[in-house]
Amino acid sequence: MSQPVLEETRNLSLSADEVLKLRADFPVLRQQVYGKPLVYLDNAATTQKPQVVIDRITDYYSHENGTVRRGVYKLSEQSTLAFDESRRKVARLLNAPSAAEVIFTRGTTEAINLVASSYGRAFIGAGDEIIVSAIEHHANIVPWQQLCLEKGAILKVIPVNDDGELIQDAYEALLSERTRLVAIGHVSNALGTINPVKAMIEKAHAVGAVVLVDGAQSTPHMQVDVQELDCDFFAFSGHKLYGPTGIGVLYGKMKQLEAMPPYQCGGDMIHSVSFEKTVFAKPPAKFEAGTPAIAEVIALGSAIDYLQAIGLGRIGAYEHELLQYATERISEIPEVRLIGTANEKAGILSFTIKGAHPHDIGTILDREGIAVRAGHHCAQPVMERFHVPATARASFSFYNTREDVDALIRAIHVVIQLFS
Ligand code: PLP
Repeated sequence: MSQPVLEETRNLSLSADEVLKLRADFPVLRQQVYGKPLVYLDNAATTQKPQVVIDRITDYYSHENGTVRRGVYKLSEQSTLAFDESRRKVARLLNAPSAAEVIFTRGTTEAINLVASSYGRAFIGAGDEIIVSAIEHHANIVPWQQLCLEKGAILKVIPVNDDGELIQDAYEALLSERTRLVAIGHVSNALGTINPVKAMIEKAHAVGAVVLVDGAQSTPHMQVDVQELDCDFFAFSGHKLYGPTGIGVLYGKMKQLEAMPPYQCGGDMIHSVSFEKTVFAKPPAKFEAGTPAIAEVIALGSAIDYLQAIGLGRIGAYEHELLQYATERISEIPEVRLIGTANEKAGILSFTIKGAHPHDIGTILDREGIAVRAGHHCAQPVMERFHVPATARASFSFYNTREDVDALIRAIHVVIQLFS
């Protein structure tokens, strides 16, 4: 179960008034669904967008649109400045040593595929081992599995205990001089478990392996510091961080990025081209072939500004309190089984209800105005491990309130009545 909030974090949390003010920044939350106020609890899938992010996209296309890096005219110069500034904002968000280590991708999925294709094809061979965990999103399983098939490498899986925590002794036993790469999620999207990635990275480095951290579910809820973690790669998605869809980030240590071959080839990623030979540009351009998602990159910068003005520490502390409240309330219902009861958890509640299929739960909750995810959450091995076909998942943001949790609990009772 979730831990009590420490005194110092409680002081950092958001007040109920602040949350209501922040909630007003999100126009989508003002609507009703089937005559009930919308309660949006699918934040692990994607977060809603504050007005500043929406405005930034509109402003960009209304007044500033011009391609980046190529034009010598005003619009292009301005776009390039804003685009480059966003890269610096991401670097500051992650505490990356340099903005050149920030590569824009379409999302976490593409960032992981980039590393699997580029680093993987260049540096992983037959008999080498890649370690993932049993609670990864498919995006952090399938690219490695395919790489192993192609190269004759071996995929090893860190097992998970009944609370949804990775078994650290088993992880240590898997590590050896054959381990080339460890790919682990910072926070599980299916269970909410916060993995002890810093310690896991240290152990992987001790056997000479590089580490990729899937930060899709951590960046929206906590202050990430890639230098402190000492990860080699870190991936996240803009749309889960209150920014637009179609934009994400791969952070990579410069020494890794310099050694890696390009992922895609074309315009913008070259220094010079002739029919005899192409000289590639330096990172990050080397990994950003073609015209990038300019408006999305710039609006991601606005989302980062917005979050940093609130403070990711305060966001995490508030969401922790909300999770604790929701966990207590849902645990009082005997028909509900919580899947994922790790000691360290982010704001995710995965559950089943006796006698009701999770898809039915999702549909009934929707009629009550409550948006949750129902399914395997792109983590089928997790469902298999906990012997369930699927779960319903409520995932929280700083704009959710205790009233939202109360509405969820009332709607769960509606499901129980219908299925008992
Ligand atoms: N990794 C985790 C832990 C996720 O939760 C998700 C999305 O749900 C992804 C990767 C893939 O993110 P995207 O679809 O934005 O590329």
